[in-house]
Amino acid sequence: MQLIGPFKQLIPMSGLSIKGAISDDDLLVFEDAGLLIDGAHIKAIGKFDELKVTYGHAEIHVLKGDHTCLPGFIDSHTHICFGGSRATDYALRNSGKTYLEIAKAGGGIWDTVTQTRKASQEQLVKKTTKLANRHMKNGVTTLEVKSGYGLSVSEELKMLRAIQEANRGTSTDLISTCLAAHMLPKDYQGDATEYLMEIADTLFPILQQEELTHRIDAFIEDSAFSEEEIRPYFQRATNMGFDITVHADQFSTGGSAVAIACGAISADHLEASTPTEIALLAQSDVIATALPGASLGLGCSFTPARKILDAGGALAIASDHNPGSAPMGDLLTQAAILGAFEKLSNAEVLAGITFRAAAALNLTDRGQLKEGALADFILFHTSDYKEILYNQGNFKPCVVFKKGVKVFDKHQ
Ligand SMILES: [Zn+2]
Repeated sequence: MQLIGPFKQLIPMSGLSIKGAISDDDLLVFEDAGLLIDGAHIKAIGKFDELKVTYGHAEIHVLKGDHTCLPGFIDSHTHICFGGSRATDYALRNSGKTYLEIAKAGGGIWDTVTQTRKASQEQLVKKTTKLANRHMKNGVTTLEVKSGYGLSVSEELKMLRAIQEANRGTSTDLISTCLAAHMLPKDYQGDATEYLMEIADTLFPILQQEELTHRIDAFIEDSAFSEEEIRPYFQRATNMGFDITVHADQFSTGGSAVAIACGAISADHLEASTPTEIALLAQSDVIATALPGASLGLGCSFTPARKILDAGGALAIASDHNPGSAPMGDLLTQAAILGAFEKLSNAEVLAGITFRAAAALNLTDRGQLKEGALADFILFHTSDYKEILYNQGNFKPCVVFKKGVKVFDKHQ
């Protein structure tokens, strides 16, 4: 066993509701705290001095200076497995070119599909591992990664195998998701329904045989798939035991209703959600996930996070890190910015990137510091947790622990 501390503050993010608004007054703050770890899990939390007496036989690590301890961050929505770059698209878009003009110039999502198909599995593993390690150093100890730039059975398999291999090469946990329903591939000889049924018939069984993922995602939008096309696809997935997540209500509404009807774990984006969608989401068990990185990348409005929380919804915040609309990939910065624009409390922002993000991935063993949870935690060099979001992302963790092992230390 290891005892680590003392922390000026330890914010366990426990005892808070999964849904609805949270005030900073609701946050538990342990002062002069210690964390007792047994292997990969947390054994106890309490006053450092008291733990030292009770667990005198533990290996004791005394920290110098002021530190605040939080659960490791969880980024529940990314697309960091890809080939190429979309820097030219980004410049064109910011020069006022339209989506169609960019697509005609050879850009857009199809460009990423082409570049990802050209890349070898090894190249994708290398790139994904590198980006995952960058997130880890920024305090992200669990990171979702989607496929969706392969768009054929073999190319989607290449991506998901690359994500699986990258997971072995990084200390952060990569949670993979199959997004073969990202868009109808331009080169597919058939309609959307035929494509989706081919994926369900051929790809889904292999995903289970190789244990490549237990999560199926789809993009419901005018430019991607309709509600009618996706419902039977999700039905197939749920019948086979997959968890469902949806790209919903980004530019037009409809996706969130499918998410609710299909029992999705989360509905992500929601920039276009109106009070009707917000009320229905809030009444459901679906986690609403805001993706401020996409709003920043596209220059669009943010997900109505305040309204979702006030209606009683569960709000997670993720980076949507992808080469097209969200190239920054900095969860803490984006969550802090969303908080400032949407008037979210520290507690609500931190919940969105810890235990509520864990719920968006259907994970119950992380996102809170409590007995039995994974010992995934991060330290900031401050005596006041409010400094973290106040610095709007420019204040990063100095130490990252994953499953009880120190995997990053800025001072070393
Ligand atoms: Zn996305």
